[in-house]
Amino acid sequence: VKIDAVDFFYLAMPQITTEADGSQDALVVRVIAGAHVGWGECEASPLTSIAAFVCPMSHGVCRPVAASVLGQKLEDVADIARIAALVERGSMDLLQAPHTWSGIEIALWDLLGKARGEPVWRLLGFSSTGKKTPYASILFGHDPHETLTRVRQVRADGFTAVKVGWGPIGLGSPGEDADHFHAAREGLGPEGQLLVDMGQVWQEDVAAATARLPGLESAGVLWVEEPFYANALGAYAEFASGSAKVRIAGGEGAHNALMAQNLIDFGRVGFIQIDCGRIGGIGPAKRVADYAAAKSITYVNHTFTSHLALSASLQPYAGLIDHRICEYPAAPKALARDLTTNHLVRNRDGEIEVPNAPGLGIEVSSEALRRYLVDVEISVAGNLIFKFPVDWKTNQKMT
Ligand SMILES: [Mg+2]
Repeated sequence: VKIDAVDFFYLAMPQITTEADGSQDALVVRVIAGAHVGWGECEASPLTSIAAFVCPMSHGVCRPVAASVLGQKLEDVADIARIAALVERGSMDLLQAPHTWSGIEIALWDLLGKARGEPVWRLLGFSSTGKKTPYASILFGHDPHETLTRVRQVRADGFTAVKVGWGPIGLGSPGEDADHFHAAREGLGPEGQLLVDMGQVWQEDVAAATARLPGLESAGVLWVEEPFYANALGAYAEFASGSAKVRIAGGEGAHNALMAQNLIDFGRVGFIQIDCGRIGGIGPAKRVADYAAAKSITYVNHTFTSHLALSASLQPYAGLIDHRICEYPAAPKALARDLTTNHLVRNRDGEIEVPNAPGLGIEVSSEALRRYLVDVEISVAGNLIFKFPVDWKTNQKMT
C-alpha cells in the first residue's frame, strides 16, 4: 500500500493560558494507506507543525514534510525508517519538521500494527511487556505548605511516585528550595520515589545547582530533572561529577536520537526521558531505549497529554522490564482526557500496563475531534495550500 492521506486535527481548549501545560491543545494525525488507518499525536504547537507539512519549498533541503511522505510505499516497518531518512534529508533546515514527522511516524506504527493485528511493541521486537510504575507530575506550590498539600493529594490518589517541578523552585535561596523538597518528601512519605523538575532554571550555572544538593539529598530525591538548558552538556557533566547520590534526568528536548545519546555520553544523565512526539516518533525512541539499556542508564517516557501519546511513549521500552518508572499525565485538560475513548488505567497496585491490542491499542474519539476542532485554512499567493476539516475521500468540508 501507499500513504494516501495525512490529515491534521488541530484541537484546542476554549481558552489557552500561559501555564506550562501542553495538554491545552493538540495536533492529532490520521494517516490513511489503502484500507488502513493509523493515529498519532505531535508534541508542540499545532499550527507551526501543520505549516511544516505544507509550506512551499524554500530550497532543496527545506522542503515541506509532505514532499517526503505522501505517496510513499508502506508495507513493512523498514519503510518507516526509510521515510524518516527522506524527511531528515529533505527537511534538514526546517526546524519544526521533527515535531511534525513525529506524529506521522507514530501513526504509521499504529497503522501497521492494526493491519497485522499486532501491538506496536511486538513490531519493535519485544516478546512480552513489563508493568510500569507511573509517577504523577505536579507543580511546586507558592510556599512549602502548598507543596506539601499538593503532594499529599496525589499520594492520597494512590501514586507512590511523584515529580514536583517549576513554580518558584530555583528562584529563591537554597534554603527556601530545601524547604520545598522536604515538604514534598513529607507529603509523599518516606517510601515513595520523589523526583524534582527544575525546568532549566539555572541555564548553565553549575554552582547554583550544586548549592541545592544538600537539600535534594536530605529529602531523598531520586533525580533532578533539567537543571540546565537541554543541550548544556558541559554543565550536565560537571554537575553529575559532583553529585554522588542525586542523578540527573533529561532528554525531553531531544528531537533526534543523537541528541539523546549525547546527553547520555557527554551529559552523564542517569535517566534519559524521551518524548515520542518530538524525537521523531517511536523508531528513534526505541534506538535511544536500547542505547540506554546497554549503558545501564534508565529510560523513561516523557508525555504530558493524551493516552494516545502515553501509549506511544511506552512502546519503545515496553519490554525493558528493569526500566519501570513512567510519566503519567495525572491531571490533563479535558481535551486530552476526552480525546480517546479508552485509557491506560492504573491497576490495584497503582501500576499500568502497555496495551496488548493491535497498534497502539487506543481509540480516538470522533466526538472529541469534532468538539475541540479548530478550523484552519492556509493560503499562499492566493492559493489554498491547507484546509481542514475536509473529508479526505470527497474533499468536502466535514460537519
Ligand atoms: Mg520536564
